[in-house]
Amino acid sequence: MNFIPKEMGWIEVIAGCMFSGKSEELIRRLRRAEIAKKKVVIFKPEIDKRYDEAYVVSHSYQKMKAINIANSGEIMKYVEPGTEVVGIDEAQFFDKGIIETVKELAKRNIRVIVAGLDQDYRGEPFGPIPELMAVADQVSKTQAICVKCGNPATKTKRIVKSDEQILVGAGDIYEARCRGCIDKD
Ligand code: ADP
Ligand code: ZN
Repeated sequence: MNFIPKEMGWIEVIAGCMFSGKSEELIRRLRRAEIAKKKVVIFKPEIDKRYDEAYVVSHSYQKMKAINIANSGEIMKYVEPGTEVVGIDEAQFFDKGIIETVKELAKRNIRVIVAGLDQDYRGEPFGPIPELMAVADQVSKTQAICVKCGNPATKTKRIVKSDEQILVGAGDIYEARCRGCIDKD
């Protein structure tokens, strides 16, 4: 994203598999917005308590202060007048209401940057991310590195046994895999 529109709302989506740098990229964009003296607010779902509760944290331990929310309906309560940029991490865990919320924020001339998993561990589109990608003005697909072969990875392999769609964890539970290695042990 080189060109950021002025006086117009805008929706950016950063989507990809685990370890693909979504949180890093979200943090990078939000830090640049802060450097530009924009009023920024960041949200994450309460469900993701892997690290510090009130921070967006990347696997490379970069972090930014965030607000934990239980559902998309809470976002508007925390968006004060004058807010210019809203960041949302782990958006796959939110309800579909997030799509309308994000559109409403953009209507209010806010730059919205949403990061989330595009697919679950079975390779199925995850929660509201597919629709967010559809309504976004700009989409970035991030790639990790396949831990088996070193190719670009676009899939997340669950390496423990569980059929739950949502099982929160990091390197102990998930690996980044390429399309060729996703079904290997
Ligand atoms: P995401 O939000 O997409 O899960 P993060 O931004 O939290 O990703 O973390 C990206 C960082 O994870 C990389 O910069 C790197 O330090 C680390 N990492 C660990 N395993 C991998 C992998 N298999 N491929 C790429 N990066 C990895
Ligand atoms: Zn591979």
